Amino acid sequence: MQLNYIGNAAIVSASGQTITMLDPSDGKPFDSIQRSQASDIDQAVRVARDCLDGIWSRRSAAERGRLLMRLSVKIAEHADELAAIEQRDCGKPTRQAMADALALSRYFEFYAGACDKLHGDTIPYLDGYSVMTWREAHGVTGHIIPWNYPMQIFGRSVGGALAAGNVCVVKPAEDACLSLLRVAQLAAEVGFPAGAINIVTGYGHEVGDALARHPGIDHISFTGSPNVGTLIQQVAAERHCPVTLELGGKSPQIVFADADLEAAIPTVINAIVQNAGQTCSAGARLLVDRQIYEPLLERLGNAFEKLRVGPAAMDLDLGPLIRQSQQQRVWDFLSDAHVANIPMVAQGQIVDEAPQTGFYQAPTLLRDVPVMHRLAQDEVFGPVLCAMSFGDEDEAIAMANATRFGLAAGIWTRDGARQFRMAKRVQSGQVFINNYGAGGGVELPFGGVKSSGYGREKGFEALYGFTTLKTVAIRHG
Ligand code: NAD
Repeated sequence: MQLNYIGNAAIVSASGQTITMLDPSDGKPFDSIQRSQASDIDQAVRVARDCLDGIWSRRSAAERGRLLMRLSVKIAEHADELAAIEQRDCGKPTRQAMADALALSRYFEFYAGACDKLHGDTIPYLDGYSVMTWREAHGVTGHIIPWNYPMQIFGRSVGGALAAGNVCVVKPAEDACLSLLRVAQLAAEVGFPAGAINIVTGYGHEVGDALARHPGIDHISFTGSPNVGTLIQQVAAERHCPVTLELGGKSPQIVFADADLEAAIPTVINAIVQNAGQTCSAGARLLVDRQIYEPLLERLGNAFEKLRVGPAAMDLDLGPLIRQSQQQRVWDFLSDAHVANIPMVAQGQIVDEAPQTGFYQAPTLLRDVPVMHRLAQDEVFGPVLCAMSFGDEDEAIAMANATRFGLAAGIWTRDGARQFRMAKRVQSGQVFINNYGAGGGVELPFGGVKSSGYGREKGFEALYGFTTLKTVAIRHG
């Protein structure tokens, strides 16, 4: 049984109740976590505040940086262990789980180096004045994290917040907490003071809600679904608490007739099958130039049929989905496609070794999906690629921008002028030209427009969101 981690100690929740963790690869219980309540959040916020007002505020930026670097190294040393934990918890194929553990280490490395480079300005002003701006930490930051990439999202969110001088109370998703509980222990081992990183587990509507409402939380970083993002925003508005919202997407991959298809095809596929499609920035809509629609779909269909799905430890193209309700969600979308006569081009295969009780879904390529159909508008959050065709740039842009989301976009063309035109016109927080995701670099600011949220995490930019600016004007004559 796993306990909360508050003030560098493993602690049973006040209720003493637990939530059972299921292994997505076989659907069987293998561990349990605390079902915490508001009083556990209260305890974590008090401990965090004591740390902030005490030892943490006396640490110089350079000392904070060294601490973050020690954690980065420690995580790298424990990458195998962390990847194994995440694999069991989330059903991630081995390569993905390992990539996530190393990305977590890299986030702490990046933010370690950033701690002592974050500074304000001096501003030329009236005669007799000197004016400067100071970048100050918010204080105690709350972090609500989804289940799809727990380690990566913890790294970008908590890493940035700590680098900027905050202390953190973290609420991981109820389906995937275990790696983060272990990382908090590792942080204590490398010298993070009690209260700097606190992890409180439980259900979103209970403990997540309590975290968002807590008056001692000075900033909320929420990554999750648009619906819960709305709730967080409403709750935060009651006390004017600043919020960063990293929400969902329905991101387009746009392929023009002059594209390098050899390069595009594997990337287009990876952008929807990575993490079994459970990626906020998944390239879920494929917009193809009509001139190459049929031949490209034929090649993609052949490639989809070769994709294999199975238990996470087999390290195939896809592992299982996180839970049964997620599997059911994908089935519901596919059944809608069937009812609407949306043609299926191809599906991958679930291997024989996959237990019937696991949460598997074969990757599926659909074609001629109507732009306004639910399948082209809403997040499936599974390995379903929806293809449609366009005639020219204007039509491609109209289709690309025709959802409420704007998280990422991929554009494939060799025409340099078109690359710029498309990048300017597409409504999206990130644009990838002749690639998708750019390898996920921790240096690259990430976030959305429209219903994909606001604020940026990752990169140096995130540090502005995790601080507030104070203007100091001195009149000295
Ligand atoms: P979710 O919104 O159901 O849950 C996210 C987190 O919020 C979990 O920790 C959950 O317990 C908590 N939560 C749920 N209800 C809450 C409430 N009422 N108050 C406070 N907290 C609450 O999302 P999910 O299903 O875990 O994750 C998938 C979603 O996350 C997708 O929409 C995906 O696109 C999005 N996502 C976005 C990004 C990004 O960077 N933009 C990254 C990863 C995932």
